Amino acid sequence: MRTLIQGGWVVGYDGKGHELIPNGAVVFENDRVLHVGGPFSGTVDRRIDARGKLVSPGFINCHLHAATNAAQTVFIETLKQDYFGNNFIGYVAPRRGAQPPRVGDRADVGGAYGLWSALRAGATTILDVGTMPGGVEAFTNVAGEMGVRAYLGPAFRSAAYVFEGSRVVWDWDEKQGMAGLERAVKYVKDYDGAYDGRIRAMLYPGQMDTCTVELLKAARQRADELGVPMQLHAAMNQREFYMILDQHGQTPIELLHSIGFLGPKTGLGHCVFHNNHSWCHYAYGDDLARLADSGVTVVHAPYKYAKMGIALESFERYRARGITIAMGTDTYPQDVVHEMRWAALMCRVADGSFRVGRPRDVFDAATLGGAHHLGRDDIGRLAPGAKADIIVVDLLKVHYGAVHDPIKSLVELGSGNDVETVIVDGQTLVENGKATRMDEAALLNAVQAEGERLWHAVPEWHWSGKPIDEVVPPSYPIRIK
Ligand SMILES: [Zn+2]
Repeated sequence: MRTLIQGGWVVGYDGKGHELIPNGAVVFENDRVLHVGGPFSGTVDRRIDARGKLVSPGFINCHLHAATNAAQTVFIETLKQDYFGNNFIGYVAPRRGAQPPRVGDRADVGGAYGLWSALRAGATTILDVGTMPGGVEAFTNVAGEMGVRAYLGPAFRSAAYVFEGSRVVWDWDEKQGMAGLERAVKYVKDYDGAYDGRIRAMLYPGQMDTCTVELLKAARQRADELGVPMQLHAAMNQREFYMILDQHGQTPIELLHSIGFLGPKTGLGHCVFHNNHSWCHYAYGDDLARLADSGVTVVHAPYKYAKMGIALESFERYRARGITIAMGTDTYPQDVVHEMRWAALMCRVADGSFRVGRPRDVFDAATLGGAHHLGRDDIGRLAPGAKADIIVVDLLKVHYGAVHDPIKSLVELGSGNDVETVIVDGQTLVENGKATRMDEAALLNAVQAEGERLWHAVPEWHWSGKPIDEVVPPSYPIRIK
């Protein structure tokens, strides 16, 4: 089956970077792109009219935790009254003896919603960072049946966060960490390449402060043996920065560099707190040089950090040093378009300059940066031979007005809601704004019901034992009639 997408602004790829082709054409056959450029004279089975639209490679969302958005209200809620509400460390950690609340999150509800909301906003490749709600098999099947391209694997770590009273502690269990790594390796063997190659496996050691050095070294070795990508949350909060410095005499990035953890096909989630970040005041060494020379990818999720009042310092400084940056959403909305705008604006604020945070640079991060993280040259771009992972964005909308440069228009004015067609591996999953395989109304009903169930359960696990409206006060008093 051969499909022609005709007209519109096509984001092509010239072998080195993206280029814009006005009134262009893209042809794909089965799962591969056949033609990108001017008019196509061959025969086709199907045509998509893209006049006035943007035809782009699908985005690569490199950091997402699939779940209902219920936990977000206690997880990074800015009204929450204690320190741990700022996600410096707590992560919905339960009090000792209680089950963590996510245990109940279902693959077909939270799992499906997390992936679908990202896909619907234009992400054709998604990295669920080890969350896998509902369990490995059920979640993999949800992703596979949905049609998305996904890099999955169960997270593993040597320590869990637990509350003792109002104090968070690290419950260390090295054996548990190593056993988790072996489960992750088994996942690679069982599932890598499933669903026609759309489901790929990778390793997700949890967080820098929850993994022993031995576990990180073992994960590095296993990732190399298996040839799979790996991503770790690291340099992600100020407390972690000082904790690692205290325990090891090295910054988080310095420690990872010194044990050989950093390298190609490896991503660091967030990677905000390098030694020259203004909150760190640690003038020894040069963490950005360590990142640049290792080939590691920094996975940037600026919106969540902006919510916490924290900026990467900065997108432009990393980029200028030759560090590859990819985009993730981490939290809701799982909208890479929205995230690109935050990346651009937070960079300008961090650098005090309107000449940085260029739309082309954040668009590169959302496409080519993600492909670099995964070690792939067939996604994140539209070129003959690349995977047919394509989105069409409707620019004929009031908020765009006159369009002179579609990339600037998208980053500065657009939203994932403007994505009207999503094609993954040659399969059309969203067509003219309508899901072809998903009952969105039923999914949203289920998400609301599951959210209410999870909120109701807050006193069962929260250290304070209080109900959600006391843990996270509502914006206004709620009047019950
Ligand atoms: Zn994360």
